[in-house]
Amino acid sequence: MTGIPRVLRVAVPSPLCRLFDYLPPPGCDIDKLVPGIRLRVPFGRRHTIGMLIEVASASQIDPQRLKAALEIIDEEPLVGRDLQQLLHWAITYYHHAPGDVMFTALPALLRQGRAPDVAQQMLWRASGAGTSVRPEQLARAPRQAALLASLQGHPAGLTADDLTGQFDFDWRAALRTLTARGWIEQHAVAATSDGAASGGAAGLTAERGPELNAAQRVSADRIVASLGSYAAFLLDGVTGSGKTEVYLQALARVVATGGQALVLVPEIGLTPQLVARFEQRLGITMALYHSGLTDRERLHTWLAARAGQVPVVIGTRSALFVPLKRPALLIIDEEHDLSFKQQEGFRYHARDLAVVRARNAAVPIVLGSATPSLESLYNVAQERYQHLTLKARAGVAEQPQVHLIDVRRQPLHEGLSDSLLQAIARHVALGNQVLLFLNRRGYAPTLLCHDCGWMSKCERCDAHMTFHLRQQRLRCHHCGAERAAVEQCPGCGGQNLLPVGEGTERIEQALHERFGDTRIVRIDRDTTRRKGAMQEFLDSAAGGSGRILIGTQMLAKGHHLPGVTLVGIVNTDQGLFGADFRALERMAQLIVQVSGRAGRADKPGEVLIQTHHPDHPLLRTLVHHGYARFAREALAEREQACLPPHMHLALLRAEAVDRDLPPKFLSAAKSLAQGLDIAGVELLGPVSAPMERRGGRYRAQLLVQAGRRIDLHRLLAPWVPQLETVRLARKVRWSLDVDPQEMV
Ligand code: ADP
Ligand code: ZN
Ligand code: ZN
Repeated sequence: MTGIPRVLRVAVPSPLCRLFDYLPPPGCDIDKLVPGIRLRVPFGRRHTIGMLIEVASASQIDPQRLKAALEIIDEEPLVGRDLQQLLHWAITYYHHAPGDVMFTALPALLRQGRAPDVAQQMLWRASGAGTSVRPEQLARAPRQAALLASLQGHPAGLTADDLTGQFDFDWRAALRTLTARGWIEQHAVAATSDGAASGGAAGLTAERGPELNAAQRVSADRIVASLGSYAAFLLDGVTGSGKTEVYLQALARVVATGGQALVLVPEIGLTPQLVARFEQRLGITMALYHSGLTDRERLHTWLAARAGQVPVVIGTRSALFVPLKRPALLIIDEEHDLSFKQQEGFRYHARDLAVVRARNAAVPIVLGSATPSLESLYNVAQERYQHLTLKARAGVAEQPQVHLIDVRRQPLHEGLSDSLLQAIARHVALGNQVLLFLNRRGYAPTLLCHDCGWMSKCERCDAHMTFHLRQQRLRCHHCGAERAAVEQCPGCGGQNLLPVGEGTERIEQALHERFGDTRIVRIDRDTTRRKGAMQEFLDSAAGGSGRILIGTQMLAKGHHLPGVTLVGIVNTDQGLFGADFRALERMAQLIVQVSGRAGRADKPGEVLIQTHHPDHPLLRTLVHHGYARFAREALAEREQACLPPHMHLALLRAEAVDRDLPPKFLSAAKSLAQGLDIAGVELLGPVSAPMERRGGRYRAQLLVQAGRRIDLHRLLAPWVPQLETVRLARKVRWSLDVDPQEMV
């Protein structure tokens, strides 16, 4: 080339919304450098790993002052064109720091500069004898028990790094003892030959599924017919209507024709049962990608998928960025689920990005849900998505009967009305199971002194501390602060402390008192802390153990409970008047999802909803006409109120220990935006966040709204880089959330 020094524009992991310029390393052939490779660069006083975004002919910075990159790590781009395009699209859509976007998308080991292959590694695993050792046998050696349990949970084995990351004690001592007892063995593996990534047509035979009914047939056929080009489908079918069977048909075709598919499911939905069902029916081993795996396991899946060695990858939100050599189909199950939205750092929505990815890769995408988000239904109305509906439950099960219980002026026994209690007794007497839903754990949301009015407030949040009876603790569910529950009022020394309101623990206790020896199982974050506990609870519940199940939203998803014939929703009032404009949509989705857990062919379910607002129009619509009609009316309401999806929002948040700083920063930000003078954009605020103080910090927000998305981006593109230059920007923590899902 000519003598012009060329410049490498590099994304480095930094919160700044720009690229950094470097000179090529000495002696490097610049013509060989392609976007998408990693390099090691000096950054501040450290080195860091960066990703090459482009080779430019000039820099705005004086070439004399540019530093040279230290080392080129990859010869080939790490990911293919479709993913690179997706990431660039995400940078401009979310207006987020390019380095953070690029590196969020990579497995941790690649972020750290590891070569994109895994050399032979030494692993430890439980030996044949070690796999059947029970924890009780090691009751007096808790470290050995913990180590062995971890190895039992990872049959493919764990490396020294994995173990060091997992245990804060000297695991090597425990390992030596267990090895001496013959319970642990060491073995070596090559790159992609182990557990997480050993997917592939492993010679298993696929089992036949049920014959599809007409609606399923139509859906599966349309998806299969669209293979090979972009199409977006909303597969809208009640729980149990056979959506998974439709996915399986489409996936079977992809597997048979040598393509690859990516299936995303919510955090809580990725159960061993689901994976086993897919594997049996497709006759393959699935490659997994989720946060419960070790870094090495995630890297293996990632590499195997990139090499085209696994036909189907199934994972949670972050699996969206797993590269595929021969992409053929994307599936997002429970597309309305909030866990697809990353709520910190790079705040992307995996569902929305998946649609973009499908378009870039020219493959179809299926969004499935029993309770589609209003966004997706709106996209159907705009003819951006094709609507596939499954109206009836597959097999013969009937839809449950839903009724409202008006609890106004009714006596409530720890939050339960007589009608609900009688219904519980009736269903239990028939030998059936009952599921009670209350989205609040602990015993009571607060303690109140009857003598002086003192309440158990959190010192760091604008919130009360929840009283946990069994543990005698007060806990803040917002910041995690906790202390011992007091017996005397800290205000007046009085002894009259009353628990106010109900949590799952209180309802459990009340039911124990009333129903004596009926087996009651509580499923919430407090009872399922141990790894695997939640799955055990659900399995035994599904098997019929426990007459009355009480739980939080954990219970709403994932598991069919065929023995449940009564679902009781203890409290809807929060959802009806929540601070967030999506509160009602989420409440409706929860009600439908919880209800969908119940009943089976010969035992139709009944759903009872307690409310103080039985005349709430949208609640009535939901109960009497179902989710589809509810969604139509809720969408119309959103249109009148100028809210998404009819409007496009971005939320600028700021927080600081000093109460004055967030609004000051946001006001400065607002002035800058007004200075840009973009038509079609409105700025609302700054206002305090609905919970102003959390974890010791004051929080405020500025809402940006626009009728047309393009106007929103015309503002955000120049505005966000300007925000970095605001003097106060260094004194607050601030972040931009495009398409915020929660307004808190
Ligand atoms: P969804 O994913 O919509 O909740 P599933 O695909 O899991 O529904 O189906 C629910 C149950 O009905 C499963 O046990 C499944 O095997 C069964 N099922 C699905 N489709 C059919 C069908 N066409 N005939 C008989 N049973 C079916
Ligand atoms: Zn008091
Ligand atoms: Zn708190």
